[in-house]
Amino acid sequence: MKHPPEPFKIKVVEPIKQTTREEREAVIRKAGFNLFNVSAEDIFIDLLTDSGTSAMSDNQWAGIMKGDESYAGSRNWFHFYDVVRDIFGFPEIIPTHQGRVAENLLFSETLKNGGIVPNNNHFDTTRANIECNGGEALDLVIDEGKDPVINHPFKGNLDPTKLNDLIEKYGVENIPLGMITITNNSGGGQPVAMQNIREISEILHQNGIPFFIDACRFAENAYFIKQREADYAEKSILEIVQEMFSYADGCTMSAKKDGLVNMGGFIALNDSDLARSIRENLIRIEGFPTYGGLSGRDLEAIARGLREVLDEHYLEFRIGQVERLAEMLNELGVPILLPPGGHAVYLDARRFLPEMSQSQFPAQALAVALYREGGIRGVEIGGLMFGKTDPETGKEIYPDLELVRLAIPRRVYTNMQMHFVAEVIDKIFKNRDAIRGLKIVEQAAVLRHFTVRLEEV
Ligand SMILES: *Cc1c(COP(=O)(O)O)cnc(C)c1O
Repeated sequence: MKHPPEPFKIKVVEPIKQTTREEREAVIRKAGFNLFNVSAEDIFIDLLTDSGTSAMSDNQWAGIMKGDESYAGSRNWFHFYDVVRDIFGFPEIIPTHQGRVAENLLFSETLKNGGIVPNNNHFDTTRANIECNGGEALDLVIDEGKDPVINHPFKGNLDPTKLNDLIEKYGVENIPLGMITITNNSGGGQPVAMQNIREISEILHQNGIPFFIDACRFAENAYFIKQREADYAEKSILEIVQEMFSYADGCTMSAKKDGLVNMGGFIALNDSDLARSIRENLIRIEGFPTYGGLSGRDLEAIARGLREVLDEHYLEFRIGQVERLAEMLNELGVPILLPPGGHAVYLDARRFLPEMSQSQFPAQALAVALYREGGIRGVEIGGLMFGKTDPETGKEIYPDLELVRLAIPRRVYTNMQMHFVAEVIDKIFKNRDAIRGLKIVEQAAVLRHFTVRLEEV
């Protein structure tokens, strides 16, 4: 079945507020046309992020009651260890309270003398943690991965030629480790092929460079491999996952994605000396090595979530739900990035609002329209997030793409709610001439999109 139904039934419901157009109008004005300033209570369908927003299963909630909050050696730690060891294969496992701490702990040890870290595309926190630890983060995704509509099964692949050139240019001594992000979040959640993981691993290892995987959406990536790559159709998701990580020396993980929990993460690796020095810092900033910033019940929920996420029926529904939303919008003629990735659909605001100048923040204007029309919250990834003022000329520099990302939380919304989202967008698209541009009235010096206030022009 191409778009299978939800493979779960609903035991607990959380009411969501339906607001009137007038109420939403007042909310968005009070928020300075910035959806980060809107309370979650005033949102009907929240597609701000898929991170930490998953619904846990009855099995995970039951596990929470089995939480053992002993300071050292809690039984949930042993369960967590066994599951991570089995799935990812690495013997050294270090729990953290979320992915970015795993990154900081890894890079503060491996970048003591600075250095370059290649990746397909670094996620924002990965880049920030590399740069703050004195390193340089470089993106080497294949060129197809930058094209918004080209059809390629693995647009998240890291370009082996670019990697070889980089090693030649900077020298192995300046590349303390290489990474691949699966799926490629900053590149639209596009998958990476097994063949690519194998090839990148070979290049790095031939040069004596350790290879780490940013594993946040490892199960979604494995599902794409099963669907799209020859020789994997008959393999189980667990087998595919185990093979992916067999090529790496370690991984960093945010369990807020494919861990199917609301908080958590870890580092897993082979190198016991590196693990020892990471643990010393862990004790200083996160906690004892058998809990690392998490309570026993959190470790239990992650252990159970990591097993559940490997269920093929779940993944079929999950990837199918994202794909179905993309398909509905595409059929309605709404411009989106194609093909869709694993966790989000991206509206292309430059094609949606071709008349609007980039100086009027078309993606933000579209995000505001989504809220006004249907109480839907997406996130602008465009001039507001990435634009900056040239310090010399005082001119604004804009990014190439103006996108609104609609990230789909895991197991939270039904397909009927996704239909509603498509209908709202269709309505806006048909009335797109009515959408007004925005101008900034107040902004911070860095990361302005979080706090900026705007006004309609
Ligand atoms: C979310 C994410 C991170 C950071 O994890 P947090 O749990 O949010 O700290 C790192 N890399 C990728 C690819 C992510 O999606």
